Amino acid sequence: MRILLLGGTGEARALAARLHPDYDIISSLAGRVPDPALPAGPVRIGGFGGVAGLRQWLGDNEISAVVDATHPFAATMTSHAAQVCAELGMPHLVLARPPWDAAGAVRVGSDVEAAHVVADQHYSRVFLTTGRSGVAPFTSSRAWFLIRVVTPPDAVVLPCNHEVLLSRGPYDYADECALLRDNRIDVLVTKNSGGELTEAKLRAAADLGIAVVMIDRPALPAGVHAVGTVDEAIDWVARLAA
Ligand code: NAP
Repeated sequence: MRILLLGGTGEARALAARLHPDYDIISSLAGRVPDPALPAGPVRIGGFGGVAGLRQWLGDNEISAVVDATHPFAATMTSHAAQVCAELGMPHLVLARPPWDAAGAVRVGSDVEAAHVVADQHYSRVFLTTGRSGVAPFTSSRAWFLIRVVTPPDAVVLPCNHEVLLSRGPYDYADECALLRDNRIDVLVTKNSGGELTEAKLRAAADLGIAVVMIDRPALPAGVHAVGTVDEAIDWVARLAA
């Protein structure tokens, strides 16, 4: 049994470290960041070329199961994997870390809606943590933005008042408090990514009385089997192998 592990997350790396070398796995990364943290075991990097490319690749590489441990907002990859596995009748699991508790946050369905909330509420100092592809809806805002991204934003035009902070988590509570305070932030805009590595910003915002606008996750494709922890994913693989 050869398993494709769709990665790009801490959970995917933790899963690879637990499965390799007992199971025949190959991890896949999109190749978005120049120096990715590599998972244990064999790794391939780069897109498959859409649904057709993925179908071809699975056949060429004699894959018999797919575990999708991509980020909860990597909806295109998740949709492609679900579609191809359903077509091929291939065992398929989604490992999606539990979402954060959004109580107290303004919940929105997209980054565009988040930009509307920022404008409507007249927030003036925004901590924007929606990733490099999540900046474009804010470009016409007059507010000041602290844009924290791992790699530079995709948007050609950025908000007229901004600072880009290139950094990669994990982040701790004390540093997040200091960042929010030093930059006089009045609203935090975040995806509901879940996970412990970047959760401290939420506790810091709550304790400092800073508003939070949280973008809900895209829905999983209908009918997929999903688990929330690495342990559950290991159990699924072990049952499949047995
Ligand atoms: P996406 O929008 O769902 O996917 C866009 C395209 O990127 C896919 O159609 C696929 O290209 C390629 N791709 C994505 N994940 C891949 C993987 N693990 N292996 C090979 N190809 C992959 O994905 P995204 O939101 O840009 O995220 C890209 C990667 O960054 C993912 O692996 C994800 O786990 C990680 N990540 C994403 C976020 C986020 O907020 N979205 C945050 C942290 C990490 P083809 O169609 O050519 O196959």
